[in-house]
Amino acid sequence: MQALIDRHGRSFPYLRLSLTEACNYRCAYCLPDGYQADGRPRFLALGEIERLVRGFAALGMSKIRLTGGEPSLRKDLLSIIETVSAVPGIGKIALTTNGCLLPRHVRAWREAGLTALNVSLDSLDAGRFHVITGHDRFAEVTAGIELALGLGFASVKINAVLLRGHNDDELPAWFEYLRGRDVSVRFIELMRTGDNREYFERHHLRAEIIEQRLQDAGWQLQARAPDAGPAREYAHPAYRGRIGIIAPYSKDFCAGCNRLRVTARGDLRLCLFGDFGISLRPLLQSDADHHALVARIATQLGMKAAGHGLHQGLTGITPHLASIGG
Ligand code: SAM
Repeated sequence: MQALIDRHGRSFPYLRLSLTEACNYRCAYCLPDGYQADGRPRFLALGEIERLVRGFAALGMSKIRLTGGEPSLRKDLLSIIETVSAVPGIGKIALTTNGCLLPRHVRAWREAGLTALNVSLDSLDAGRFHVITGHDRFAEVTAGIELALGLGFASVKINAVLLRGHNDDELPAWFEYLRGRDVSVRFIELMRTGDNREYFERHHLRAEIIEQRLQDAGWQLQARAPDAGPAREYAHPAYRGRIGIIAPYSKDFCAGCNRLRVTARGDLRLCLFGDFGISLRPLLQSDADHHALVARIATQLGMKAAGHGLHQGLTGITPHLASIGG
């Protein structure tokens, strides 16, 4: 089996696959005016997704994260989970979701083969949650997380984007939340994208400020597992849950990169903030193209850059994260 390793020595056991660009939220930092369909070709169909995952699995990829946009808006999400989990070599299937459909569907997703869940929850205050996301769905999301915690997932994680002036005073509330729950909260430093420049300047909060507060409160940085990816993880003996810090502006962030992305229309994106995508879709139309697909992925990986240009304000071709799969 070939291995997915780039010329900087990083390995990629992990693919983020976007299932749709559509989202029902209006997060102030991502899609403040809501998703606008642009009439371009439709998103990858189930058969194309299966061929794509087979191609990556042939190169040693063992974990797929389904994301978007909001992946739970796909009517065929259950079939996608079943199909992907049946591909030989794929051991882990994770879903990143805004969580509002969890109460209705999470049990079925789990039974279909989903192994891990990441749910976005930017605030533990229902009113603030509404202001940030544009939707009053706090009750569904938090109830969905409680339900998921009883379903035997390998991991349940919560994503919260750090926003100065909106949620940067909530650490004590998060500590209480984590006291008895086996979840990991990932605090994500706000990233500047093509569309959010002004918002970024007003609300960006450096992750290291939060890390300092964690350390002051007795949280301890954990040793990094070899395949752990770019999050720095903290634990505290008095709390069951953990806290991860995702700091895209920190100096070692790209050195820990272990992910590749494919957009909802089948473009391979080597970096969230890269300047180009490589269309894989023409090679997803027939099983006969399997070997050509595997070769194209392997060749393109050789072109992955050592790091992004965010420090120089270079956001690449990404207008917002919903367009590529956050
Ligand atoms: N709709 C799903 C969700 O809400 O999790 C999946 C897609 S969403 C783009 C994935 C994650 O990216 C969410 O946690 C979201 O808050 C985060 N995100 C979006 N734009 C971001 C930005 N500019 N900086 C940091 N995180 C961002």
